[in-house]
Amino acid sequence: MRVYNTQTRKKEEFVPLVPGKVSMYVCGPTVYNFIHIGNARPMIVFDTVRRYMEHKGYEVNYVSNFTDVDDKIIAKANEEGVSAQEISQRYIAECKKDMEGMNVKPATTHPLATQEIDGMIEMISTLIEKGYAYNVNGTVYFRTRKFGEYGKLSHKNLDDLRAGNRSLLVTGEDQKEDPLDFVLWKPKKEGEPFWTSPWSDGRPGWHIECSVMSKKYLGEEIDIHAGGEDLIFPHHENEIAQSECCNGKIFAKYWLHNAFLNIDNRKMSKSLGNFFTVREISEKYDLQVLRFFMLSAHYRSPLNFSAELMEASGNALERIRNAVSNLKYLLDAAADAPMTEAEQGSLADVKSFEAKFDEAMDDDFNTADAIAAVFELVKYANTNVTSENSKAFVAAVRDEIISLCDILGIIAEEKEELLDEEIEKLIEERQAARKAKNFARADEIRNQLLEKGITLLDTREGVKWKRA
Ligand code: AMP
Ligand code: ZN
Repeated sequence: MRVYNTQTRKKEEFVPLVPGKVSMYVCGPTVYNFIHIGNARPMIVFDTVRRYMEHKGYEVNYVSNFTDVDDKIIAKANEEGVSAQEISQRYIAECKKDMEGMNVKPATTHPLATQEIDGMIEMISTLIEKGYAYNVNGTVYFRTRKFGEYGKLSHKNLDDLRAGNRSLLVTGEDQKEDPLDFVLWKPKKEGEPFWTSPWSDGRPGWHIECSVMSKKYLGEEIDIHAGGEDLIFPHHENEIAQSECCNGKIFAKYWLHNAFLNIDNRKMSKSLGNFFTVREISEKYDLQVLRFFMLSAHYRSPLNFSAELMEASGNALERIRNAVSNLKYLLDAAADAPMTEAEQGSLADVKSFEAKFDEAMDDDFNTADAIAAVFELVKYANTNVTSENSKAFVAAVRDEIISLCDILGIIAEEKEELLDEEIEKLIEERQAARKAKNFARADEIRNQLLEKGITLLDTREGVKWKRA
């Protein structure tokens, strides 16, 4: 398996630190509102990376935080006249609902920044002891110039950065030794949540959170650290500086970053106001369509959101689901016989699509090509599988489609219980229409069900239904 490492700017063979295990940290959202579909891109992409790793047999320890203390959370709390904690807990719960809708698996651990303050104080203290950080009037800064490798992830030249940041020195940040020094701890302002520390009553900077949570739940050295590409600088660069200076070890072996989800070719973001929340999208589309749309492009390519592309994704997903439901129908009709010799041979063709799928995913998680392999399999199924085949063969083809889709987190088989519920509800509605002598509506429902392959039988015991 080869993965593109932002740090080396190359695709590298993936070799985990511990054979058979993968430790992975994905920077999570700041929770002060519903997440937008730009935030959903790293969630879907790295959940897919995780699923593929699991498919390859790795045991994945997947950690993704919630940043639950931040200026924006405090501002929102003040706006509503409630506590910052109320805001963050509300939007963590909403975010988890959205994740479930997008079929993003819960992380092994979802740490909260506010629950990890002790660890942050400890790491900051170590950095001060080692001379990598200093306290000025209760604010602790990281001494960037002391870390010779600063800039190694983002490939930025420190002198250029310093020149570009000189303006900071004249805008009130002149207590810093260097314009590139960044905050590890800051004193509280009136009305803000705070924690007691050796330096001041205050709260941690954003970057230190991830260094600490990654260390606590995954250890000092991890395999993969990931997030959106806007996090490369300064967030991830600063995380490297903090962790490597504190622990004296390489922080993360592979750095993975997704490109932006754009709208009209501009980054979708809260600050630009050009966003759709996942919740809004869920009112218009099945969130599986959103997931399919996200995976239809390579994660390192920018992706432009549009209704047309969502529609195309909806149609594509429908084609897969139709093939699966067709196979289910064939399965009912097929003979209960073992696979014939010819079918055993055909099974090799079926497996060749899985090999193609794996080959695409092994190449830096090329989900676009992996989806193409699923479509080849769908086409194969549509043209080659008939009611003449044995149950064993039809089931093998169906299971292959379902399991490849599952690696992508795509649910190829419509949930039957839900469908049954819908049917029952429509039948009830039809009965009510008949009682009200609204025969037109009653017929409409019968036809609607017929279109979905459901036949109604009006019997003496009541209405019965069966699938065609
Ligand atoms: P934030 O809450 O802004 O810290 O973002 C949470 C995650 O979403 C980070 O990994 C960001 O890089 C990512 N992100 C935010 N906006 C976008 C976007 N438009 N496209 C892709 N990823 C994004
Ligand atoms: Zn982070």
